[in-house]
Amino acid sequence: MNDLTKQTWPVSTRARDLHEAALVWDSHSCLPLKAGIDISDLERHRASGIDYVSVNVGMDFNPLSQVIRVLATFRGWLATRPDHFMIASTAADVRRAKAEGKLAVSFDLEGSDMIEGDLDMLRLYRDLGVRQMHLAYNRDNPIAGGCHGADIGLTALGHKVVAEINRLGIIMDCSHSGYRTSMDVMAASTKPVVFSHTCMRKLMDHPRNVWDDQIDACARTGGVIGITGIGIFLGADDASTATFMRHVDYAVQRVGAAHVGIGLDFVFRRGADDYPPNFDRSLWWPPSHRYVGRSNFVEPERMPLITEALIAQGYSDADIRGILGENFLRIAQQTWPAEAA
Ligand SMILES: [Zn+2]
Repeated sequence: MNDLTKQTWPVSTRARDLHEAALVWDSHSCLPLKAGIDISDLERHRASGIDYVSVNVGMDFNPLSQVIRVLATFRGWLATRPDHFMIASTAADVRRAKAEGKLAVSFDLEGSDMIEGDLDMLRLYRDLGVRQMHLAYNRDNPIAGGCHGADIGLTALGHKVVAEINRLGIIMDCSHSGYRTSMDVMAASTKPVVFSHTCMRKLMDHPRNVWDDQIDACARTGGVIGITGIGIFLGADDASTATFMRHVDYAVQRVGAAHVGIGLDFVFRRGADDYPPNFDRSLWWPPSHRYVGRSNFVEPERMPLITEALIAQGYSDADIRGILGENFLRIAQQTWPAEAA
């Protein structure tokens, strides 16, 4: 990031200074899942003062072959641009990337079908840079229940998967899980559990959002709830900063600022045709749950304005630094391997 970029942030001097000094963490973002693509869109994160982003490399409907090809593309692209980017394996890597003005990137999986029931695949994904994972993407699978499924609990295989995810040092995520599965995972996990990108169901009753007892259980694990910037989860397709802040503050009031973070889930290049053959969109995103048309998003460029809004909310600088990124960094320190895999 250069001074010219920072001068364009439309915020107060105080917000700019705080935003620049803080470790800013976006716990989920989506790029087209296509081999061979250019992912320079991530420069938008770096220019917005974001220091780390977790990039999705596959959902339950993406076959293993696609997930591996996407990992190869993303890893290759990042590795050949070391001036601006770093593939982060450890929490220390993230701090080093910030100090060097680089965007730290690791990867996340949304679901577990891509392990094809083979626990050894978890280690492979970890070694390829996956640092965060949830078990079911919206629908139920043999491991766990999705938020648009039949609310099944964590299966016997699912319990083994959680134990292995804990052991390998991958952040255990419950976004997109069903209610029962999320509660089962939080009871079973020996490490903090996060909701990397969700919203408050008391404010917006959508199955992708979390009830108060899920928030409470997450905090009891020592975890963090990342508020997402998707309009249909925030409200009536309302991705305004004011509405985003209502969800942040609800979580802060409920469980304390130490358990709140940000997972924008910004989708770069929406409409990219990256679906597998015979993809049934309505199965994964039921129209009855308002997945119709294009949702509004909180874009990465909004992040300095969110810092301004956190100041306006009256939070302490320490709480703001926690929400912006130190809280998720704490989870990484407690979870990820201390040494590069
Ligand atoms: Zn997601």
